[in-house]
Amino acid sequence: MHARDDVLFDSHAHVFPSSTAESSFRELTGAPAGLSGDIADAVDTMDRLGVRRMVILPLLHARHDFDARLAANESADPDTVRAEIAERWSAYNTWATTTATANPDRFIAMIGTDPVLFGPDWAAAQIERGLAAGAKGLKLMPWFAGCRPDDERLSVVWELADRHGIPVVSMCGMLPTSDLTQPDHYEAVASAYPRLKLVLAHLGLGAEDRVARLTRLYDNVFADTSAWFEQRLHSDSWLSRKLGAAALTPAQAVDLFRDIGVDRIMFGTNFGIRRAEPAHDAFSTLPLTPSERRQISSENHRRVYDDRSD
Ligand SMILES: [Zn+2]
Repeated sequence: MHARDDVLFDSHAHVFPSSTAESSFRELTGAPAGLSGDIADAVDTMDRLGVRRMVILPLLHARHDFDARLAANESADPDTVRAEIAERWSAYNTWATTTATANPDRFIAMIGTDPVLFGPDWAAAQIERGLAAGAKGLKLMPWFAGCRPDDERLSVVWELADRHGIPVVSMCGMLPTSDLTQPDHYEAVASAYPRLKLVLAHLGLGAEDRVARLTRLYDNVFADTSAWFEQRLHSDSWLSRKLGAAALTPAQAVDLFRDIGVDRIMFGTNFGIRRAEPAHDAFSTLPLTPSERRQISSENHRRVYDDRSD
């Protein structure tokens, strides 16, 4: 096998400026204690697991931080608090592009925004500045923003991604207590913005058949495996309990991948808020053909993220 065939990218990672940065986001997403998630940890993890590059998704749970700070201090000025959190997120986006520029062989930067809390002008400025600094796409979290992905208030992200023809990674799937981000709510976006590449994170967690429906209908819909193996291949996960379903076997997982399309799926781990090893271990057990494994490990990533370097 040619060496290039073994290349593996992690298309969905959360790398942080320091081991203590954005602790509230990590706590809220259930990150295990002791997880560093900084550059040194990311590089060490890539070297240990044979990963070529990680895609950094700079994400804050800004709405939660905003509400928590106002609740903790009744006299706080909402505009001041909002501006401070916006500045923190802006610095995180800048850190991501700076890191990727300094380490192009290890990292790709995306730009995260919340146009609902900070407004479309702030989001547009972050996006344009980030793309000019080398970012390859955008990150959106409708759940944190508090609305469905097809909500008008998020349209600035879809419009700019469509104009630039770049990917947007957006949380997709069942949630413990809501259906805000189920795949069907992305159909209007996929249909209205054909030039953007819509990456549905987590393979639609529990609603994979609806992701498959979208990939059949729209050429611009993709998915990544972050958070998916841990939930769907284990019967004691919250998702398995919610679905009342047994864990999928590796063969069933492959059937589902083929249903969505192995030309649409990218390997990702949620590194930074999850350990990367379980996803790697699970992926290695799947009875994929060598060609299918290559598509999910690297070929789809190269196409979606326009990542042509070795
Ligand atoms: Zn994530």
